[in-house]
Amino acid sequence: MAFLTEPEPQRGAALPVLAGIRRIVARNPSVMTYLGTNTYLIEGPDGLSVLDPGPDDDEHVADILRALNGARVARIVLTHTHSDHLGATAKLKGATGAPVYAYRISAKRGFVADRPLDDGDVVAGMKAVFTPGHAADHLSFEFFVPGTGKILFSGDHVMSWSSSIVSPPDGDMVAYYKSLELLLGRDEILYAPGHGPLLPEPRGLVAELLAHRQHREASILEALREREWTVSDLAEHLYHKTDFRLKMAAQRNVLAHLLKLEHEGRAVQMTEQKASALPDDYVPDDMPPGNEKEMGKAQINMMLQDAARRFAYAG
Ligand SMILES: [Zn+2]
Repeated sequence: MAFLTEPEPQRGAALPVLAGIRRIVARNPSVMTYLGTNTYLIEGPDGLSVLDPGPDDDEHVADILRALNGARVARIVLTHTHSDHLGATAKLKGATGAPVYAYRISAKRGFVADRPLDDGDVVAGMKAVFTPGHAADHLSFEFFVPGTGKILFSGDHVMSWSSSIVSPPDGDMVAYYKSLELLLGRDEILYAPGHGPLLPEPRGLVAELLAHRQHREASILEALREREWTVSDLAEHLYHKTDFRLKMAAQRNVLAHLLKLEHEGRAVQMTEQKASALPDDYVPDDMPPGNEKEMGKAQINMMLQDAARRFAYAG
């Protein structure tokens, strides 16, 4: 796929992106987050909007506050509530008093937006576009930039550097397909994603992402025609990942595909337990832990149960 790369950004600096828009790349690089989460500072008549405060990292919060240069933060806006976007929100709100805007139904237990947003709502010139799939509460934002045209802050729904993880139940492959198709019918000329550089002519990549998933789905159906599979065996068969985090991510994606096929009546689940019970400490996220030690006991039980779920072909 036509993914983009970029050189390591200057750390701690608010880098110019487009007229009136700067970006601070958080210090959380990883195999799941590329060089780090993009925190966007967007100028408006009443002050700055901070889109995605980033991970809970004091240094990153200090970088944001330094970049204000005396300007007022009018609001904090979230594309979704995964920890690498939401994490710094409480501290930034504490330091600035700015209200937090996010999708009206939060996927993160215990988090409630000050100003709930729905599809089509406009805040500071940003029009919310509900794009669930990667996260149940994911919003993209249409925005007009003078001298550039209509852009989309695409969060983690469409990123320039990689495809997105779809991890059930917060992630939903049926919704993800629909949200990609939704973007194919829109006319933004540039995406500003949650990770990675700006994405020009974005619909080409959106079409490729959709085709990639359809191809993966066809491979899964083909494998199911031969025999029953557990999620973990099928992920191994299709992805051959060795890194623990990427292996877990592959399993989550495969589970998401299988649940979509089940929903469509093309696969059937053979395991007695149809879905793992969500643990009390369940944190929906796009950051599978780096090793088993980083996971809570309940969390790892859920992932292991999901990995053992068995699916068969249904026609
Ligand atoms: Zn992210």
